[in-house]
Amino acid sequence: MLPAHADVVVVGGGSCGSVVAARISDDPDRSVLLLEEGPGYRSVADTPREILDAATIPVGPGSRWAATFPARPTPETGTTVSRGRLLGGSGAVNGAYFVRARPGDLAHWPASWSYDEVLADFRAVETDTDFPGDLHGSDGPVPVARVPWDRLHPVSAAFHRTAVSAGFATVDDLNAPGPDGVGRVPLNIRDGMRVGPALAYLLPVLHRPNLTVTTGTEVLRVVVANGRAVAVKVAEGTGARTITADHVVVCAGAVRSPQLLMLSGIGPADELRRIGITLQHNLSGVGRDFTDHPEVAIGYRYRRDVPTGSPLLETVLHTGTLELRPYTVPFGAAIPGSGVADPVFGVVLTRPRSRGRIVLDRADPRSAPVLDYRYLGHPQDRADLREGVRLASNMLAAMTDLVDASGLTTTLGTSLHLSGTCRMGDDEGAVVDERCRVRGIDGLSVVDTSVFPEVPSRGPHATAVMLAHRFGVSLWRSEAPRRHTRRFTPPV
Ligand SMILES: Cc1cc2nc3c(=O)[nH]c(=O)nc-3n(C[C@H](O)[C@H](O)[C@H](O)COP(=O)(O)OP(=O)(O)OC[C@H]3O[C@@H](n4cnc5c(N)ncnc54)[C@H](O)[C@@H]3O)c2cc1C
Repeated sequence: MLPAHADVVVVGGGSCGSVVAARISDDPDRSVLLLEEGPGYRSVADTPREILDAATIPVGPGSRWAATFPARPTPETGTTVSRGRLLGGSGAVNGAYFVRARPGDLAHWPASWSYDEVLADFRAVETDTDFPGDLHGSDGPVPVARVPWDRLHPVSAAFHRTAVSAGFATVDDLNAPGPDGVGRVPLNIRDGMRVGPALAYLLPVLHRPNLTVTTGTEVLRVVVANGRAVAVKVAEGTGARTITADHVVVCAGAVRSPQLLMLSGIGPADELRRIGITLQHNLSGVGRDFTDHPEVAIGYRYRRDVPTGSPLLETVLHTGTLELRPYTVPFGAAIPGSGVADPVFGVVLTRPRSRGRIVLDRADPRSAPVLDYRYLGHPQDRADLREGVRLASNMLAAMTDLVDASGLTTTLGTSLHLSGTCRMGDDEGAVVDERCRVRGIDGLSVVDTSVFPEVPSRGPHATAVMLAHRFGVSLWRSEAPRRHTRRFTPPV
């Protein structure tokens, strides 16, 4: 049963929402209500098998664990993209590649988020079983490990050998600052189980009396009065119900967080006028100038049978603005229903220049918005990706034992690393300040990958968990509103 009030309402129980709710509810005197629109589970034993199985990415067509959005990779092309829609969010269904942003990535963030400032938070979220020491955590909730060299999948091992023969250096620890090269992917997998933030952070604290976690509950909008967030409206049957809050933390992910702000009247004045929503506060950057990694999937054929059941990605090569990804199995095997029968090799542009935007449907602003990526809009992005495809094709051609590199195909897609739809900063387009507070609205924060100033040059998940941890542990504490004083009505 939903309470009528919570000191803190967290909207969205995905990667960041799971961490935020766990850390804020560390204070037993503060009531925390986490509202997640997708389905949930209460324990590891209760968690569906495909969510636990790190070799499965259950976001294919018809998945009950994913939301699907129409997308335009380029103005001329259309597709759909999926994100997790369940307790644990995208982090409960992702590829379990848990790699930190590079120091250079964080140089684009406000100074309080420099690599030196956040290293302690990166350490606090993890237990790295391969590399104990000053750079790594040894008692954090998320287990991190790499596949041992002698147990790599044949595709990963052949890729590593080929990269080294081509002159690339082996990088022992991709989570350490240092030069580019080929290395093993840090994975948040333990004994074949994907341990995302819901499992690592939230399930262990579900028993807390001050924490309520409700699934199957869609938040429709944040209620703003006199420049302050005072409540959320949640869907109830065909109507809505109001839950008041001292503070609302929006963690609905990089698509739904900007949508929710706009549905609440917070966003670009021209866009809100277009979709007929009354303006509460003009923030021109909401939903605009986002970044994500374009990824070209090169399809090829195996020459012989290879094993299935490995993590989808065990090794990567970083060189300049490129990441090369030798996926271990065809997407059709890892993503049930995706229908991609041939194995693919990914070429990722790690520092894209193109910028996209989220476009709400004028007729029904609540429906799934269009993700307008505008990939390849910048000529340098095109040139860099073309160079990546050339390098990848040469490497595939050199993996003669395993790979039939005749008749390669290429398809432009996305790595699903959407970032920056509610950017952090202090410029005109910034949506939140360096403490994740929505600029110009009291009592409202956004904490998820939408606040990244831009997509890191690596997968965003480890950085998202670091962000949420830092918010819940330190930023939140210094910003915490006064505790809600329970009103006592004396009996008459
Ligand atoms: C298939 C896939 C594979 C990926 N693989 C990797 C990888 O291997 N490595 C990596 O670094 N990154 C990967 N990513 C990206 C990474 O997982 C995400 O960037 C990260 O999990 C995002 O976390 P988040 O908290 O910002 O959003 P999410 O985890 O998406 O959480 C948002 C949550 O909010 C809920 N929600 C939304 N709207 C509402 C509402 N109105 N009311 C209530 N609840 C709402 C959603 O249901 C969801 O649970 C992958 C992403 C996907 C989709």
